[in-house]
Order: sequence, then C-alpha cells, then structure tokens
Amino acid sequence: MTHTNHKVNLLDFDLPQLKELIFTWGEPAYRADQVWGWLYRKDVPAIEDMTNVSVTFRGFLDAHSFIDRLTVHTAETSVDGTRKFLFLLPDGPGIESVLIPERDHLTLCISTQAGCAQGCRFCLTGKSGLRRNLTAGEIVGQVMAVKRILEPGQRLTNLVFMGMGEPLANYDQTLTAIRILNDPAGIGFAYRRLTLSTSGLVPQIDRLGQDTKINLAVSLNASDDATRSFLMPINRRYPLKELLAACNRYPLPLTRRITYEYILIKGVNDSPQAAHRLTRLLKPATSKINLIPFNPHSGSDLVPPDWDTVLAFQNILVKGHYTVIIRKSKGGDISAACGQLQGRIRPLEPQTGLSSVN
Ligand code: SF4
Repeated sequence: MTHTNHKVNLLDFDLPQLKELIFTWGEPAYRADQVWGWLYRKDVPAIEDMTNVSVTFRGFLDAHSFIDRLTVHTAETSVDGTRKFLFLLPDGPGIESVLIPERDHLTLCISTQAGCAQGCRFCLTGKSGLRRNLTAGEIVGQVMAVKRILEPGQRLTNLVFMGMGEPLANYDQTLTAIRILNDPAGIGFAYRRLTLSTSGLVPQIDRLGQDTKINLAVSLNASDDATRSFLMPINRRYPLKELLAACNRYPLPLTRRITYEYILIKGVNDSPQAAHRLTRLLKPATSKINLIPFNPHSGSDLVPPDWDTVLAFQNILVKGHYTVIIRKSKGGDISAACGQLQGRIRPLEPQTGLSSVN
C-alpha cells in the first residue's frame, strides 16, 4: 500500500479492508460504503468531491488519506486497432496496458509489476528484470484510467492480468486488485470476465483457486521439461508434472476451462512430436489451447514457424479433440503484442491527453 507521511492511498484497499480501516478510525462501517461509491462508481479525483460525506469526516479523511490516481501518459494505436497506454509511476518506472478490440469484446490487458523477474527467454518485459511490484491501486488504476478515456459507447467487457510482470509473484496486491475489480458495489467485473495468466507459480495457483473464482491462463509453451526449462526458468522450480497437477486441482466451474498459451517458436517447440506430447498432457474437456506464433523482437533471436507448421501443429491438437485457437498477437507494430511490453517512453512527444501515432 502507498503511504505518504502516514497517509494511505484509499485506492489500495478492497471494501472489507476499507471498512476495517475506517472502523479503526472510530467511524461506522457505512462510511466505507459511501467512500467506496465515490471512488469506483463516481470516480472522483479528490476527497473534497465526496459531497454526501459530512464535512467533518471529509476533513478527517483528508488528514489520514489521499486519492492517488493513475493517468495515461502516452497512447499509441496500432493499424489493427489495438491501443497501448503508458503510465509513469510516481517513483519513475513506466508500466503499460493494452486495449484489444474484438468483434464482441473489448479487453484490457493490465500489468501487475514494473518489469519482471521470471526471465522467460521469449519475452522482452523480462529482459531488464523487476523494478518493483505494483500496488493494488496501481493495478486497478490502469482500468479506471482507460475507462475514463474510452470512446462514447465503448465499454470494457474483459480484463486480463497478462501485461508486464508475473501476477502471482505479487500475490497480495494482485488479490486485492481482483477483489476491488470484482466488487459489485464498485467496478463490478464478474469473475468470468477476469483472467489471470501465470508462468506457473504452483503454490500461488492453489491459493488463487481458494481465494477467487477468476479464470486461469497458463503460459505453457512446451510439452516437455527440457524445452520448457530452456524457455522459462520457472519450470526448474515447478516442472510440468507439478504445474499441471495444480491446474487440474484449480476449482473452476464446470462451464469454464483453463487456457493454455503456447507460443510457437521455430525449431524449439513446433514439431509434430511436441504437439502429440501436448495431447497426452492436457485434458480436452478442461483445456483450451491458444497457439501464438512468436512475435520477433530486437531482444531475441527466436523466430516464428512458417504458417504451414502452425496449421499442422493445430491440426494434431484438433484431432485430439482440443479447442484450439491460433491467436495472431495484436499490436505488433506498436510493441503491444504478447511479451513485448517494456514500460519505456518511446520517442514520442509527452502528451497530456491521448493521441495516436498510426
Ligand atoms: S512472459 Fe510473463 S512471466 Fe515471463 S518474463 Fe515475460 S512478463 Fe515475466
């Protein structure tokens, strides 16, 4: 949580935590409901705007807390309509969110850490390591900031915790953020519209299943331990057998399935043998597979397979009765595609509002 001179950022608390905080201040719990409505229904920028809260309590709030909202620093728009937003954190690091329009969905991909410590070989975000964890307020703040600048008639339908960072390595703040986003008296995203993607932190997958009903996506990328450890160092700590056992334990409702993301990389994990092995690892009834041809970037010498190889890989999985989608990663021209987020200011004029470079 953010503290300034012992003041706390009201945006770092979920509703039960806010109630407890206000209770410790000797005020009744209904005050928390009022404040919550102002923060997330009315989205006010300052405590003084909470006009149905008594002047005395507003003065008390002012003395003990503040509202520190994120605002978009720069925005870029891809030729495919994907938009990437850069936020600058008060202590310096940049983080990014990506807005992905699809036919009947508008999905925002949000970050949970500035940088990342996991070091996946295919990912640009991880190249410069972890700067720091985000607070719950900074995670939710990306959603609130983007909501403020949507076009008239646009509405966010889905959120994915799939931007910069490993969400489960910042477990407590991510969980608080999920609870803030899910709370029906506030932003009100139903669990079925929230998806968290992980590189495979097994103990935290178990905790997440106990603490929430959020959808789970797993960045799998290999069907044997040697290849997965080559691509993702986390596999040395939690190898495939342990990871998939945790996925099988994950308590999703029967109508929902776990998404397995598989970035296809030429000569590394794209062989027919790798596809056949995958069919033996996953259960078709509880799995969806997203195949994502690798997005080449300057930080890696990996390359995507040719299209025929992608189709052949998909075909093997389809014959194994899996639901398989080939996802062409979006926003590649603005470095907004999977694994390309860096949180850096590109050579653009800093702007107060939004603009597009394409
Ligand atoms: S793929 Fe995800 S977990 Fe791996 S380094 Fe990149 S941001 Fe981190």
